[in-house]
Amino acid sequence: MSATRNDKYKGYRGPCLDLMRRWNVTVWSEVKAATTRGEFSGLILPRSETSDDLHIVLKLGSGYNVGLRHDTIRSIEQTGYREAHYKIPEQEFPYDPRHPSVKLLGTGGTIASRLDYRTGAVIPAFSPGELYGSVPELAEICNLETEKLFGVFSENMGPEEYLVLAQKVGETIAAGYDGIVIGHGTDTMHHTAAALSFMVQDPPIPIVMVGSQRSSDRPSSDAAQNLINATWAAAHGPIAEVMVCMFGPTSDRYNLLHRGTRVRKMHSSYRSTFRTLGDIPLAMVERGTITPLKTDWSPRRQDRRVLLRPFFNERVTLTYYYPGMDPDVIDALVDRGYRGIVIAGTGLGHVNRKTYPALERARDAGVHVYMTLQTLWGFVQMQVYETGREILELGVVPLSNMLPEVAYIKLGWALGVYPDDPEAARKLMTTVIAGETTEREPHDGYLVLQGGVPEVQEFIERVWR
Ligand code: ASP
Repeated sequence: MSATRNDKYKGYRGPCLDLMRRWNVTVWSEVKAATTRGEFSGLILPRSETSDDLHIVLKLGSGYNVGLRHDTIRSIEQTGYREAHYKIPEQEFPYDPRHPSVKLLGTGGTIASRLDYRTGAVIPAFSPGELYGSVPELAEICNLETEKLFGVFSENMGPEEYLVLAQKVGETIAAGYDGIVIGHGTDTMHHTAAALSFMVQDPPIPIVMVGSQRSSDRPSSDAAQNLINATWAAAHGPIAEVMVCMFGPTSDRYNLLHRGTRVRKMHSSYRSTFRTLGDIPLAMVERGTITPLKTDWSPRRQDRRVLLRPFFNERVTLTYYYPGMDPDVIDALVDRGYRGIVIAGTGLGHVNRKTYPALERARDAGVHVYMTLQTLWGFVQMQVYETGREILELGVVPLSNMLPEVAYIKLGWALGVYPDDPEAARKLMTTVIAGETTEREPHDGYLVLQGGVPEVQEFIERVWR
């Protein structure tokens, strides 16, 4: 097989190769394909040598890839040819002595990814030069240095990585940077944001986590805007907290800064997936302007003081209660040596009666059990119903309006800080460290989640001015 032929039909064999020859198309052909499932227009992508020989893979205009099974294809018409160059040119970041200095720590995720056209998969590929090469606006904001800590999708982030990241943030603060940006996969960004909020307390500079829902090779990518706004907030913003900076509305109008302990990924594919729950976001970021929406944030300071507490006890877990849950689920955790259990309970903080003996056994074994809410909004109130009071008597501690994932992270952290002092760990769990519980919910906070009703429009118009 010649090299040219290899490239022209890269990865295609068998019936797909026959089809491509018959319709006179190759890899990188822009095509219109008529199939039994309708018509598809897109670019034929190369495939890996190991993939099946049954599908022709098209990159659609929407940025999604679709595999067309050879026996569903009726015709293929070439409409153009566009060879993709997916290597981003590396450029050296220019230095301007008037600009603040920002350190970008890379952990991976879509924001640090580009499409692997061989497989159609998004692979982590973080390189500082590539970053600047693809978002040159960053040079107008700050002097940026980058460091790749990990190159993983965020489901692979965990306690070990949280500790490394927290230490690195501490070193970066001590080194005198004006702000820190952390590139991270969106799926578990709220876990890491919570971990950093507890491990790096009272930082003097902004620590801004950022990700993207759509990789930078896609036309609707949020990567560049998120990065620009996050970098701006880190370099020039007045808020010195651990925050998440992602798309605010579904359009590219502005980004929101969310407090690291009150934020959660709420949609699998929207770019505006991150929402502050139980509160309103800290601020809006829009083309070089930050508009605070709240007043209770920690301001930027010139000193380098920070309380670093990088600890985590991995024997903690988060259990999502469901009706009919068998108590042996809790027994198994206790038997396996778990030291702490966060329950996401129903309604105001409930589990069924069947689990009571298991909760009692957990308490007797010295396991810390805390209650949070599946509803995500609202407060645990276990005094309202008799069942709640009974659960309280079993030693389950209510965690107010702390989000379940945040409670899990905080419990791992608290039992890491105080592995041998259950009382101190318990006290830490119910002491507010980084805004993880609030006294009340704002009257207009919850509405942000529910479009199509007049109050939301009024609220949005008021904030958007
Ligand atoms: N699966 C990816 C991750 O969380 C998604 C993303 O980065 O948005 O790493």
